[in-house]
Amino acid sequence: MNIKCPDPIDEEDQCIWRWTPKHNFELKSAYSTMVGSLWAPKQPIWIIIWSLKVPQRVRLFLWIAYQQKLMTNGERCCRHFSSSPRCSDCSSYTETVIHALRDCNVTHRLWLQILPATLTRHFFSMNLHTWFSCNLSTNFLHPVLKLSWNILFASLTWQLWKRRNNFVFNNISSSETDTINHGITWAKYYYGITCKGTIGGLIRDDNGVWLIGFAKVIGHSSSLQAELWATLEGMKLAWEQGYPRVVVQSNCKQAVELIRSLDLSTFSLVRAINRLRHLNWLTEIVWIPRSKPTCRCLSKDS
Ligand SMILES: [Zn+2]
Repeated sequence: MNIKCPDPIDEEDQCIWRWTPKHNFELKSAYSTMVGSLWAPKQPIWIIIWSLKVPQRVRLFLWIAYQQKLMTNGERCCRHFSSSPRCSDCSSYTETVIHALRDCNVTHRLWLQILPATLTRHFFSMNLHTWFSCNLSTNFLHPVLKLSWNILFASLTWQLWKRRNNFVFNNISSSETDTINHGITWAKYYYGITCKGTIGGLIRDDNGVWLIGFAKVIGHSSSLQAELWATLEGMKLAWEQGYPRVVVQSNCKQAVELIRSLDLSTFSLVRAINRLRHLNWLTEIVWIPRSKPTCRCLSKDS
């Protein structure tokens, strides 16, 4: 869905370098491509965690948890940071990683609410390492939530740890339902961004008044491709609406630079955008840093 249809007036096919986002050759990318498959990490879990489709902070959390380096009460006590190794939730056991994330009565109840029947048999009896590697490499869809189990598992363990920290350090307790709902919501988000990319935008007049909006599903996509798609679709819409002067604002510097560069781009999307710009109207492409408000409309006319 994210590949633009061929256009009879477009360029002939040409060779491109597929391993960089801009399709330009870089020695670094050639090296990574050649040796990448030869990297043989000693632990398979390394690849399982670091290729999981979740944000980097969640991967980092999973990696630290797997290495048993989370600052649980047990760990803090060993390092003389606290006087008691007991779990703050149940006060009955030493708080280890597996206790905090699975075996404490609160977390145990929570997992039981969401665990698919096929996984319940061994889920609570595995040791920490097997527990992580099995669940993080299980990517079947949850029968009710229709989410990949490994993403849901990662999201829930992350939320359980955040819940525990909020309780221990901020004295704020969250209900089990809230924790589950947070975990599911974030998992849906992580899963959604890896499965179906969507783009959208809106057109405003020079007073910032909303004129028209658009949205489109573009399938698997990089962020650069998504930005280029959004620019093309937005400009097509503006042209169809008959606006004589249009300023396109994007917070993707790479996309703006690609469109502005006069070289014949290897991106068919960039070529299509530039063909559109050569029609009988005035267009300008402006980069808006993400940190600044994007409500300023620079066009004199809409
Ligand atoms: Zn406990």
